[in-house]
This record gives sequence, structure tokens and C-alpha cells, in this order.
Amino acid sequence: MEAIKRNVLLNPGPSTTTDTVKYAQVVPDICPREKEFAGLMKGLREDLVRIVHGDLNEYTSVLFCGSGTINIDVCLNSLLPEGGKILVINNGAYSTRAAEICEYYNLPFINLKFPVDEQPDLAVVEKTLRENPDIRLVHTTHNETGTGILNPIREIGALAHKYNAIFTVDTTSTYAMRPINIRQDNIDFCMASAQKGLMAMTGLSFVVGNRAILEASRDYPKRSYYCNLFLQYDYFEKTGEMHFTPPVQTVYATIEALKEYWAEGEEAKWARHTRVFNAINEGLDELGFKQVIKPQFRAGLVSSAIYPDDENWSFEKVHDYCYERGFTIYPGKISTTNTFRLCALGAIDESDIKDFFKVFREALEVTGVQIPVVYK
Ligand SMILES: *Cc1c(COP(=O)(O)O)cnc(C)c1O
Repeated sequence: MEAIKRNVLLNPGPSTTTDTVKYAQVVPDICPREKEFAGLMKGLREDLVRIVHGDLNEYTSVLFCGSGTINIDVCLNSLLPEGGKILVINNGAYSTRAAEICEYYNLPFINLKFPVDEQPDLAVVEKTLRENPDIRLVHTTHNETGTGILNPIREIGALAHKYNAIFTVDTTSTYAMRPINIRQDNIDFCMASAQKGLMAMTGLSFVVGNRAILEASRDYPKRSYYCNLFLQYDYFEKTGEMHFTPPVQTVYATIEALKEYWAEGEEAKWARHTRVFNAINEGLDELGFKQVIKPQFRAGLVSSAIYPDDENWSFEKVHDYCYERGFTIYPGKISTTNTFRLCALGAIDESDIKDFFKVFREALEVTGVQIPVVYK
């Protein structure tokens, strides 16, 4: 097996993968309607439930061919009963995306906004639930990848349940990294994509959730043909297959990635991401960069650094310098502040971050940015 050029991706997914995961895609051609392939997907679906410690009788997973946004679309359009309303608890770009999905489907919803650098105020969440008994679905994002803030999902889930609503959480940027326990965290449905925490390839996304609620959603309004959760679940249960063509090669890569996930272990993997994250923060601190999210609110996977007030600072130039040397940095996602992000996803470790900061410092030096960086 020939080694493939290794790039260190510090963007928020797709993430750096191992060569064994890359090569797992190179397999004999197979029609995904063969029993052999359905067998692979059964094991895969079960593993996806096990990652969040779900009991296989109570929880299941449903696969979709698409990027992570498909999961948000699927959950919101499929899990709202007639006459119900959605509450989106929104302190960032990904919950804003959820609110937009509600808008596009004409779903009744409340967009409960909080500042992007603060955790949602639970008293306001509870008041909203109390005053709107028609809320049947509460949605939020675990780690707002646009900033890296961690949301208190266990507490939000408890409130949702207290007021008789189901709780869907976008865990795309925590799943298979920051440990999740679907029951203890009061989650009814969570979601992710193969190219993020699992360190596999793009094109496969999945919702992990409560079987009984899924069964009950059989009679909910059908608002999409391709993106209906119950229809896809039902097809899997009856045939073991995806309703429409699955991303075959990504499925093979994901199965290999899962093997590597279990070999590394939940705890060790989270410890590695934490090491990487700490190294990123130390590197940024050393250069004098300010960050958007206070240390106590950080989810431990995304750092959001503020552009310095230096006329020579150019994200593009710094990005290109790093990119040419095998490191990818990423712009931020906040409308009010100019930021860039460094993320701790992927098959990387502390030493990669040390190597990165050598190159990053050089990039600042050659472009004439003052070190430590300055803010007015
Ligand atoms: C990456 C990500 C998604 C999915 O984005 P796509 O561009 O559709 O892959 C959704 N939610 C969160 C929190 C994410 O980090």
C-alpha cells in the first residue's frame, strides 16, 4: 500500500483520514442491492448506535446519501406532527440553518436567538416552552461549529421532555469525538456525517434516534419524498437497504473507520482531540491571538480566532502559504466579527499542531504581520 500525501486539515470537516480508510474504498465493483452489501450496512447501522451508547432495541440509525445538512432537513421535516410547532434554540450558524429549513418547509417555528458567544439562557428556553404548549419538537446544535461553543444539551433535552416535546440535536461536530450518551443526554435524535468525527469520507450521513418515536412518525405529514425519516427507516427495516442508491465507496471507508474508532477507543480518542485542541490554543495564545469563545464555553474541538488589527494581515495569503505546505486553515462563520478557525477533528495529533504553528508563524513573518499580533 503506497502512502498518500498527508495533508493536515484544520477545517471543520472533512477531516484528515488514515491511509487505511482511504484505501478501504478500493474494492471490487459491487451492486449495492446484493445481500452482501446489505449485510455490511446492518453492522454499520448498529455501530452508529453503539457510538452514542444506545440500546439497539430502543435506538436505531438511518442512513442517507448526502452531506450533514441532509440530517437537519430530514429530522425537522419528518418529526413534526400536524398542528405542532418547532423551537429552534439558536446561538450560531448551524441552528440558523435549521431555522431556514423550517422556513423553506413552511413549518411553524420559533427562532429563539441568543448571542453567538453565549450559551442559551435556560430560563428563557423554559419560559418559551411554558408559553407555547404547541411546541412538539426542540432543536439545537451541540457544538456550534461556526464558533466552537458548547451547548448544554442534557439540560435543554430535560426541558423539552418536561414540556412534552421531542429533542433533536445536531451533533455533527461532536459525534464520535466528544463522548455522547443518547439516553443520559436526553437526546431523542442526533446526527452526524462520516467525514467528521468518524474520519471517513464525504457522502454518508446518519440520524441516530428513538425507535418508538420514529414508528409514531409514520402518520406525520410527509413533506419530502427523498428526505423523509420514516420512509427511509421503514425501507431499511424491510429490506436492509437504502431506498435509493447508497454512497458505496463511502460505506466501505466508514466501516474501516469504525474499526479504527473501536481500536482507538472512545476515551483515548477524546483525549487525543483534547491534546490537539490544547495545542491549538497554546499556539494561538503564544502569537497573541484573541478568541471569540470564552474558555469555559468551548466544546473542545473548534477554535475561533479574531483577525488582528494589522494592515498586513491577509487570511488568504496566510491560508495559501500554509496550504502549499500541507496545512488547511478555515474562515470563520460569524457575520459580525472577522475570524478564522482551527479545528481538532481528524486523524492528527499534537505534533501536527506543533508543525503547523512553525509554518503559520512563518506565514505571518513573510507577510509582515506583527508578532505578537496586535488589537486596537
Ligand atoms: C459540518 C456540519 C454540518 C453539515 O454541513 P455540510 O456542509 O452539509 O456537510 C451540520 N451541522 C454541524 C454542526 C456541522 O459542523
